[in-house]
Amino acid sequence: MTVEASSRQALSALAEDERLFRDSLAEFANREVRPLVRRMDEQAQMDPALVDRLFALGAMAIEAPDALGGGSGTFFHAVLAVEELSRVGPSVGVLVDVQNTLVVNALLRWGRADQTAQHLPRLARDTIGAYALSEAGSGSDAFALATRAVEDGGDFVVTGRKLWITNAREAGLFIVFATIDPAAGYRGVTAFLIGRDTPGLTVGKKEDKLGIRASSTCEVVLDGCRVTRASVLGEVGKGYKVAIETLNEGRIGIGAQMVGLAQGALDHAVAHIKERRQFGKTIAEFQGVQFQVARIAAEIHGARLMVYEAARLRDSGQPFVTEAAMCKLVASEVAERAASLAVNLFGGYGFVRDYPVEKLYRDAKIGQIYEGTSNLQLQTIAKQLLG
Ligand SMILES: Cc1cc2nc3c(=O)[nH]c(=O)nc-3n(C[C@H](O)[C@H](O)[C@H](O)COP(=O)(O)OP(=O)(O)OC[C@H]3O[C@@H](n4cnc5c(N)ncnc54)[C@H](O)[C@@H]3O)c2cc1C
Repeated sequence: MTVEASSRQALSALAEDERLFRDSLAEFANREVRPLVRRMDEQAQMDPALVDRLFALGAMAIEAPDALGGGSGTFFHAVLAVEELSRVGPSVGVLVDVQNTLVVNALLRWGRADQTAQHLPRLARDTIGAYALSEAGSGSDAFALATRAVEDGGDFVVTGRKLWITNAREAGLFIVFATIDPAAGYRGVTAFLIGRDTPGLTVGKKEDKLGIRASSTCEVVLDGCRVTRASVLGEVGKGYKVAIETLNEGRIGIGAQMVGLAQGALDHAVAHIKERRQFGKTIAEFQGVQFQVARIAAEIHGARLMVYEAARLRDSGQPFVTEAAMCKLVASEVAERAASLAVNLFGGYGFVRDYPVEKLYRDAKIGQIYEGTSNLQLQTIAKQLLG
């Protein structure tokens, strides 16, 4: 066995192109994202120039083919991008995550050739995508959605209100889930590709959030929004498949966001405890503190391996749904613990906005809520265990 082949045995091993890609994202995050993070959080707004630079970097359609403007990368590359960006700015991480693991991913899997030719070059170049499934009355029970699509002269007329839609403020393209027949339950659900300028689509109230404040989360209102039959993504009445399959994959991305966040919190904590002196020593010299950071480092390592494993399974066409649920469940809990520990180790400085860790603590909470709450991940895991 060659040295290279044996080193690939490590679960965390990256191929050369993956390592270079990760390093370029890490460098970008430090140079371009870090200086903006605090201001974007305070203003609850993504910097538009930063979004332009994410497009220029090639971070917005990582898996799309080169011929359509994409990076011809893998899902694993997208996961690395989300992790590295989230280490510095989890809001930037989720912008890139939704774009790649939900919107581009859904188009690659379900889009007809004319749809991918129309939308992927724009998503790679300058158009942000959003994924509109949730509503006020349907979150965990997503297919109880009330948004209606009524067939009319070969078109569909879509009416309803979507809630909690990430990237909605900036998005130019929405994947909207609506039912063609509420009585049919999940079998009525249909996915539509709807451009922002389509009459009848408006982006409503932007939520004022605890964390990931620079990521926009808005209501999307569809009021008699007329779309052609050609805008159906996948088949009529099979939108539930589009949703289930993309969300199964998307939650690996959220796992990556949470691993990145946890690592970012640990990085800050380690730097601080090596500087801060109490009782005539740096606080890193106290064994009680060493054990706390050692434990969280071990937990982050475990969560990262779980995320990588799920992404590798997905890329190699093997079953990954349970592993995806497990990695999101664990990574989001580890992120909350890591950010909480970082706040503790900063002491009073951890509680004020002049230092970065209170923000990571606020940002961590969302990992247990979106793309399926922790209880829903447990439900998926239990179903696999218990049949
Ligand atoms: C910042 C943010 C961004 C979001 N982005 C998007 C987006 O881009 N697109 C989109 O479509 N949606 C998005 N969402 C919506 C998100 O996916 C939902 O909030 C989430 O799925 C939970 O739904 P809910 O809020 O209705 O909570 P509920 O479903 O009402 O759940 C409330 C509580 O009940 C528990 N619960 C519910 N059912 C069960 C059960 N069967 N067994 C045990 N416990 C249960 C849940 O675990 C949770 O603790 C976003 C939400 C937020 C906050």
